[in-house]
Amino acid sequence: MKPLLAGNWKMNGLSASVNEVEKLIGMFDGSAPDDVDILICPPATLVGLFATEFSDEGIAIGGQDCHRKASGAHTGDISAEMLADAGAAFVIVGHSERRADHGETDAVVCAKAEAAQRAGMTAIICVGETESERKAGREKDVVGAQLSGSIPRQAENYVIAYEPVWAIGTGMTPTIEDIAAMHDFIRDRTRKDVRILYGGSVKPGNAREILAVQNVNGALVGGASLKAEDFAAIIKAAL
Ligand code: PEP
Repeated sequence: MKPLLAGNWKMNGLSASVNEVEKLIGMFDGSAPDDVDILICPPATLVGLFATEFSDEGIAIGGQDCHRKASGAHTGDISAEMLADAGAAFVIVGHSERRADHGETDAVVCAKAEAAQRAGMTAIICVGETESERKAGREKDVVGAQLSGSIPRQAENYVIAYEPVWAIGTGMTPTIEDIAAMHDFIRDRTRKDVRILYGGSVKPGNAREILAVQNVNGALVGGASLKAEDFAAIIKAAL
């Protein structure tokens, strides 16, 4: 399966950040490598600009969230159709920061994944346990329930991102054995052609080891995707 290296820029980036993506492309001699899929999910304000600038350069652009409805009285929200219209091919749904900050339940995440599909995009559905859930040995129960509740029944085009909440932005990662065990667990519960990304403090120094794990089909990268050098090193680790 072709690895997917996805950068989640979160609430970072201004129009001048075009330069950082140009720098990234420059690190591959001016065109993105064919052996991996590269995705950048900038803030919504930059989706249109980035899609215009980079879609022809082998970099896919995605949103970080979408509303479940196509349009309506939902001030401040953005629909999947709007993201697709702006040039997005992917959208992250159910990131733990949205589950925590906006109270998003599995049912809400599932509806957003359906919206992505309706708009012709690929949903990246995020799952992952908290630190206390892992300490209690409940990580598979938690992730299993999130998978059952968040993946649409008629799902066609989707990616799963396993992101242990305690590993996001902390510099901590599960052991390679724990990553392998969780990805095997997820593989048993998803179609064989679905990519399963690992996310949570992926850095140039640990990317090669993590990406070599069976059933790790790429990475969802937060902080390290903001710097061209670091993201390029992570992409190269997958080649
Ligand atoms: C994320 O927010 O999806 C993420 C994985 O962040 P970081 O790489 O910074 O841990």
